[in-house]
Amino acid sequence: MPPLAKSNKYDLLVIGGGSGGLAAARRAGSYGARVAIIEASGKLGGTCVNVGCVPKKVMFNTASIAEALHDAQQYGFDLGNDVKPKFDWNSLKGKRDAYIKRLNGIYENNLAKDSVEYIKGRGSFAGKNKLRVEYDGQIEEIEAEKILIATGGHPHIPNDIPGAELGIDSDKFFDLEQQPKKAAVVGTGYIGVELAGIFNALGTDTTLFTRSGEILRTFDPIIKDTILEETKREGIRLLTHAKVHSLRRESPSNPLVVEFSSSETGEKTTEEFDILLWAIGRDPNTKDLNLEVTDVKTNPKGYIVVDEYQKTDADNIYALGDVCGVAQLTPVAIAAGRRFSDRHYGPPQFKNSKLDYSNIPTVVFHGTCGTVGLTEPEAKAKYGEDNVRTYTSKFVNMYHAMTPHKPATAYKLVVTGPEEKVVGVHLIGRDSAEILQGFSVAVKMGATKENFDSTVAIHPTSAEELTGIVMLC
Ligand SMILES: Cc1cc2nc3c(=O)[nH]c(=O)nc-3n(C[C@H](O)[C@H](O)[C@H](O)COP(=O)(O)OP(=O)(O)OC[C@H]3O[C@@H](n4cnc5c(N)ncnc54)[C@H](O)[C@@H]3O)c2cc1C
Repeated sequence: MPPLAKSNKYDLLVIGGGSGGLAAARRAGSYGARVAIIEASGKLGGTCVNVGCVPKKVMFNTASIAEALHDAQQYGFDLGNDVKPKFDWNSLKGKRDAYIKRLNGIYENNLAKDSVEYIKGRGSFAGKNKLRVEYDGQIEEIEAEKILIATGGHPHIPNDIPGAELGIDSDKFFDLEQQPKKAAVVGTGYIGVELAGIFNALGTDTTLFTRSGEILRTFDPIIKDTILEETKREGIRLLTHAKVHSLRRESPSNPLVVEFSSSETGEKTTEEFDILLWAIGRDPNTKDLNLEVTDVKTNPKGYIVVDEYQKTDADNIYALGDVCGVAQLTPVAIAAGRRFSDRHYGPPQFKNSKLDYSNIPTVVFHGTCGTVGLTEPEAKAKYGEDNVRTYTSKFVNMYHAMTPHKPATAYKLVVTGPEEKVVGVHLIGRDSAEILQGFSVAVKMGATKENFDSTVAIHPTSAEELTGIVMLC
């Protein structure tokens, strides 16, 4: 059997071939460092490529086409009165899987281009500078001057609910070969909201369980309130203050019986679903790393504690991306990875390079919602009630001038100080994901309301509202 690794000593060993690990390894390799990346799943790209952003966006696009087909008739297209276009879930899955397989291959080629060695196997610590790699019964130990942990996370499944394992998670969502007719989605963070939106748009009878009365709880009130209305209007059944008590299935061909309580249904009740999807948070992949032999510290939730330079409590061990539990997004992991390698292996001008975690834009592909900077409550807590003003605009996107349904578009600017520096932009409505990127540059640069207002609008668009919002709240 050939050895797992080509060498037993490297400048940098990266554990985890996802967004952050790949970015760091490639950047270090491009500077000439001796780098290897260890990946356990057999597929490069991590969560984002395999069970996250990428397949999710394909499904969001599919859902958007379903909605556009519905709207097409309002725009004068005759799709045939009796014929509802058929959607073939499994055929789309085949194409989506093939696309992802191509991406896995591209990622492998890119590693080779930057002279990064790809080691297949599961990595864990065997000492402060030493990793143990295990693959198919073969075990090797390799050393490195620096070790970077970029092992990401995995979906959380409750361990105190009888039958919880009969539910699926976001990873398994992408394994579904058939579209469920009736689905329960538990959890109203962005993953639950997005996947419920996809099911619903494609015609699955969808129930969304929220522990509170809200969805997207951490977002600005303008987004939370509007998405709540929109979710109901779209036909998703929302159960508030809901709690799942148990799951059972008599046999694989039988429906899933979910016992739950909620404000709408009152005391415990049971209902049959084809599937239940847990979207109640994620846990870090730290348990199998044998961190005990190092000085690396984790917080009570298991996330690795790092400083602003991604350094752990061990001098030669660093960590970044989802495994650190802060701003769990692909571009964040990538940027932290590149900065890390710029600093350690790049030219002298990068010697202090680090990621600024403020003003990170994020979107939810349902609604669509986009947010950068501080929410109104956060800004008030930071600058004081009297030093914060908000400008809002609520309107119907012109696209819906032709449709009977009129979903709300709502925008909010949060500003502070006499100069009215924009410290938060919160959007909900069509195309917000695309609109937000440019505005986040402005926020990052410290733009003021006056800068927004003095920018000539692009007409007719929704985004033009942001260049002249006048409604002061
Ligand atoms: C459903 C879903 C949708 C998402 N949508 C978006 C989105 O639209 N936009 C966005 O920005 N982010 C999105 N994310 C988040 C994004 O996927 C993550 O933030 C990103 O992948 C984190 O990158 P990472 O490098 O930290 O970890 P990951 O990408 O998770 O990579 C970690 C890698 O480490 C490997 N690994 C773990 N343990 C070991 C070990 N011991 N040895 C070797 N290898 C190991 C894993 O197999 C994995 O390949 C989504 C996530 C989910 C779940």
